[in-house]
Amino acid sequence: MQKGILIIGAGGVSRVATVKCAMNIDTFEHITLASRTISKCESIRDDIKKNQGISIDVASVDADNVEELVKLIKKVNPKVVLNVALPYQDLTIMDACTQCGVDYVDTANYEHPDEAKFEYKEQWARDDQFKKAGIMALLGSGFDPGVTGVFCAYAQQNIFDEIHTIDIMDCNAGDHGYPFATNFNPEINLREVSANGRYWEEGKWIETKPLEIRVDHDYPEVGVKPSYLLYHEELESLSKNIKGLKRIRFFMTFGDSYIAHMNCLKNVGMLGIEPVEHKGQKIIPIEFLTTLLPDPASLGPRTVGKTNIGCIIEGIKDGVKKKIYIYNICDHQECYKETGAQAVSYTTGVPAMIGAKMLYKDIWKDKGVFNIEEFDAQPFMDELMTQGLPWKIIELD
Ligand code: NDP
Repeated sequence: MQKGILIIGAGGVSRVATVKCAMNIDTFEHITLASRTISKCESIRDDIKKNQGISIDVASVDADNVEELVKLIKKVNPKVVLNVALPYQDLTIMDACTQCGVDYVDTANYEHPDEAKFEYKEQWARDDQFKKAGIMALLGSGFDPGVTGVFCAYAQQNIFDEIHTIDIMDCNAGDHGYPFATNFNPEINLREVSANGRYWEEGKWIETKPLEIRVDHDYPEVGVKPSYLLYHEELESLSKNIKGLKRIRFFMTFGDSYIAHMNCLKNVGMLGIEPVEHKGQKIIPIEFLTTLLPDPASLGPRTVGKTNIGCIIEGIKDGVKKKIYIYNICDHQECYKETGAQAVSYTTGVPAMIGAKMLYKDIWKDKGVFNIEEFDAQPFMDELMTQGLPWKIIELD
């Protein structure tokens, strides 16, 4: 009989997801943590054993290799696989899950390492494969994508008759004290931010130059922060799944120092993904930069301040125009005290655990490949309240 959860990846997000799965061991029954570097799994395991007294199995796996994954999944025989490695591993882990007949959850959509472009196409194309195997894939169960999709689904199911516009607002007002560092995997973060912006309006995609559109937005409990329009993966699924939508955009806050450093690194070619020859060796500039930058997992103890992430949603209720902001606030130091990780890892790792819980307990049960907004939002919203990511709704004029 399938039992337990297999978590793949052992970075900042995995630390939080694993700590939270351990706090929900009544649900998950047993935890196995596997990653490329087993010492990272052992470090998370040892902290959980020390703080929560829960035993976790660890394993080493190269998640780029389907055969290795299949061997591990067959050995562990879990009920759910939670992928918190990198987006490059999404397809191999999905393929291993269909070969083994195990449900799949992730937090970020597939990216090819050699092409700075992310889209759901290749994961959605596996829908038949998942249906035939009689299993389910839940895509994008982090915060954004993830909780933002659940917020939109909740608004559609409970607050509005029609939703017309959505602006997803992602504010990290945390300060780690370094002139430049990224709060999650540097390679994934810098590829996302330095790319052209894009938003969806009246059925069409509108492209902007990188960080071309800026709004100064007043975030509750945080204050006014410059927020820049980016393309973000949930725009692709929400523009399909929220019926009647006319426009959806995504904004993220960046400080001047972050932008100045990023532009400088871009201008000198350090964000390149093509190999370059250096003293007889081939190196990929962005991979080398990742080696130089602080490990996001190390930012926890030194990051202070809050995150405020949510959705401004406008539409119609009972024939009257309505506009709301639905959001969560997280404090970096509180997150660190609880899990040993800062709020960006926390706000991703908690919903990753909740998504896995929805499948583990058959609360969300289906066959095929799904995005998070395709389900009843209420049980997920209830879990957010009790697992560390309480949300609020305010009316805007
Ligand atoms: P990290 O870089 O800290 O951790 C990634 C982990 O994956 C590392 O333990 C790494 O192991 C492991 N890994 C990488 N390649 C392989 C491989 N081939 N086989 C096995 N393990 C591998 O990343 P984060 O924890 O910051 O992010 C994890 C995921 O969460 C990413 O996909 C990211 O995009 C996503 N994310 C989603 C967000 C959301 O809101 N939806 C927000 C933030 C992040 P090793 O170090 O040994 O190579």
